[in-house]
Amino acid sequence: MSVTPMMQQYHEAKEAAGDALLLFRMGDFYELFFEDAKTAARVLGLSLTSRDKGENPVAMAGFPHHQLDSYLTKIISAGLRAAVCEQMEDPRQAKGIVKRAITRVVSRGTVTDDALLNPAESNFLLAISRNLPKSEGKSGLAWIDISTGRFEAAVVSTAKLDDELARIAPVELLVSDDSAPLPPSWSEGRLVTRRPAWAFGSEAAQSALTKHFGTQSLSGFGFEEDDSPALSAAGAVLDYLTETQKSSLDHIASLFPYRVGNALEIDQATRRSLEISQSLREGRREGSLLGVVDSTVTAMGARLLGDWFGSPLTDVERINARLDAVGELVVHPAVTAEVRTELKAIYDMQRLLARVTTGRATPRDLCFVARTLSSLPKVKAKLTGRSAERLALLESRIDLCADIRGRLEAALEDDCPLTTRDGGFIRSGFHAELDEQRELMRGGKRWMAEYQARAVEESGIPSIKVGFNKVFGYYLEVTHTHREKVPANFIRKQTLKNAERFITPELKEHEEKVLAAEERSQDLEYELFVELRELVASATRRLQGTAEALAEIDVLASMAELARTRNYVRPEMSANPVLDIEEGRHPVLDITEPEGTFVPNDVSCKAQVASCEEREIAHNSKIVPRNSLLLITGPNMAGKSTYIRQVALITLLAQVGSFVPAKRATIGVADRIFARVGASDDLARGRSTFMVEMTETARILNTATERSLVILDEIGRGTSTYDGLSLAWAVVEYLHDRIGCRTLFATHYHELTDLEATHSGVQNLNVAVQEWQGEVVFLHQIVPGAADKSYGIHVAKLAGVPREVNQRAEKILAQLETQHEQKGSGSLSDPPSRNGHPMQMTLFETMDHPLLETIRGVQLDSTTPLEAFQMVKEWQEQLAEKKVVSRPK
Ligand code: ADP
Repeated sequence: MSVTPMMQQYHEAKEAAGDALLLFRMGDFYELFFEDAKTAARVLGLSLTSRDKGENPVAMAGFPHHQLDSYLTKIISAGLRAAVCEQMEDPRQAKGIVKRAITRVVSRGTVTDDALLNPAESNFLLAISRNLPKSEGKSGLAWIDISTGRFEAAVVSTAKLDDELARIAPVELLVSDDSAPLPPSWSEGRLVTRRPAWAFGSEAAQSALTKHFGTQSLSGFGFEEDDSPALSAAGAVLDYLTETQKSSLDHIASLFPYRVGNALEIDQATRRSLEISQSLREGRREGSLLGVVDSTVTAMGARLLGDWFGSPLTDVERINARLDAVGELVVHPAVTAEVRTELKAIYDMQRLLARVTTGRATPRDLCFVARTLSSLPKVKAKLTGRSAERLALLESRIDLCADIRGRLEAALEDDCPLTTRDGGFIRSGFHAELDEQRELMRGGKRWMAEYQARAVEESGIPSIKVGFNKVFGYYLEVTHTHREKVPANFIRKQTLKNAERFITPELKEHEEKVLAAEERSQDLEYELFVELRELVASATRRLQGTAEALAEIDVLASMAELARTRNYVRPEMSANPVLDIEEGRHPVLDITEPEGTFVPNDVSCKAQVASCEEREIAHNSKIVPRNSLLLITGPNMAGKSTYIRQVALITLLAQVGSFVPAKRATIGVADRIFARVGASDDLARGRSTFMVEMTETARILNTATERSLVILDEIGRGTSTYDGLSLAWAVVEYLHDRIGCRTLFATHYHELTDLEATHSGVQNLNVAVQEWQGEVVFLHQIVPGAADKSYGIHVAKLAGVPREVNQRAEKILAQLETQHEQKGSGSLSDPPSRNGHPMQMTLFETMDHPLLETIRGVQLDSTTPLEAFQMVKEWQEQLAEKKVVSRPK
């Protein structure tokens, strides 16, 4: 079968594009062929047509070129990638077939266009390098946000890959094509790109990295020798970008080593259940901790705040440096407000710069760079003379880049277009030749107007008009009414329904001048644009540093704003594992619940640290918490989960460097926070609730240290009562005796409260409840002591269970309680015994089954074996037919 040269060109490009959908530019359209066209029809809703309709029709689909962004968004959201194949020359000037080339391959992890990105979130592409010889049990990770140029790498223990992926939340993963299939928890919702194994090799990495950064070796990046897996991953990232971007990657200025141990460790389950950056239900930022505390006014600030929440600090000094800065902004609300007003006017410089260096910036982008630069002096001035070290440092990092700003402002119009195509964005007076050409153009157009007037006069046709189109250029249009009067020197070019179009040699002569001037001035504008773009690109480092400083100022000012408006307090940070919060509030409910309804609560606990020195410090400090493990009992819906979560969230906020919702707080820096809250089925991943619960519990018990903060909610709920109670009991003992870390344990097993008597570091707390005229009021107040009732029926009432059922349940409960008291304590003597408190109602006690009565009544002495057999058979039948209804007497 013969193939046309164009299809030949298509096949070559398609081969280079691999599994990416090839968007093949043909005139004003992007076309897709063969399987790509079918996929596009399905995923993008394009209509499928065919080319070469004869014997071998070729499936084809396409869309107009100006809709590229919106189709790229659809392609990327569908988890696909696209290779954009452009015409590399003007078809009018092409000799033979137009040259085409793939100018970029776009996937979720490599987009730079604003239209395809969420401004408030980083967009990470992450490479995983695993199973390297010499680094047993370790993996290398490297992640980049190509839309800003931020590039980091780390070595992590392979067992913690899950947690790191949850922290970084990449949108695309790069793995070696010889690696085993990825666990679903890694790949879920992400594009997985397989790359050749050699791209992850250390030699390839060495060469890719030294070439990109122009260094002799990699020693200057601050990676240790055993960090080679991190560098291998970084090499794979660069190799992939070089292949897909096909443009300068100069905005990737550095590769930063990320040290896992330097940040507060938060595992994936904790991150999810504390809803730090995503809500559990909808997986969105709204409703999460980050969502409610984020008052930043710039996209750069919002992204940085997200990073800070991903990796809170563990170093008291660094935390205090941030708190000092926030504190100073809190006491100077006018300064903070002014800084925020200025920041609102700036643009996303990090993403603008990325587009500038990759050659994708538009005139409008440069205009936005100029506007951002023009806001800098005011921001800088507001920060001059501040005493907090961090603020002073940030102020010094703002480089006004006056040279760049001056040039951009002189060159660019106030409002610039989105494309360079039609020009019109360079100010007049900026470039002499451009002005000259524009004058010629204007002169030419003036001549046209005069010529029209002259033609009207000479021919006596009042309606003669000079017009322009792409095919004939300038022409004279005469309506048919005046056909007779058309002068002889008019040359007919086109006949329309109502008029005819003519040209004259004189008109053509001037047309050439006008068009030549127009073309020249557009070329000139383009040249000037490229010059300006390169000027900005040459200042990338300075501008990036400035952008980072602006982002941090925004974050600190946002924290100050939150602290001031929500009445937060500066936490006193301690290196000792203490926790002492007075009138703490849940940061999310405090904002989302109606004003003034949230009930604040205190917490006081301290890890059981072994060192004498620390005991001494704790003893000498104002607070001497004696407990490490707080056991919270109380009815459902009373506020147990809220209380324990709020303690974890306040600790996290403090370690981010934020003020906290409390009247007073002393926070001992935690090395890890663990939260096992509520039961969530993970059936999609093939694990039952209970298995998930135990896996997470195992992890806490195996990895928590005395400096960790552990919050556990309803551990053991997913199995039978005794089973669950025993496990919960043993878990409490282990946490108390072996780890000694600060623990908040909320449970519905009232039996556990006995532990207070035998374990010096356990303290019972419960949520106060008031009974009034038969109604129960949850006070949401945490008070010392154990809870004595479950109030499940009350909760059922609140939930709308029919009154009849509730009334019946109340009666049953009363009967059961009487029975229980008559029978004495429950059958569990060891471990849990109940010092006079009514027991949690367990499965077997509530089941006073009628069959049991029958069994109890059997006189064995007078029963033959055959009769016994018969009886058992009947019972079995009764049970099978569910004839017997379980009911208390
Ligand atoms: P539990 O864990 O005891 O079942 P939750 O902590 O889930 O209860 O709280 C149930 C509801 O009670 C919350 O959704 C919230 O509306 C309310 N609540 C909890 N704590 C407080 C509080 N301190 N102040 C006001 N309302 C609260």
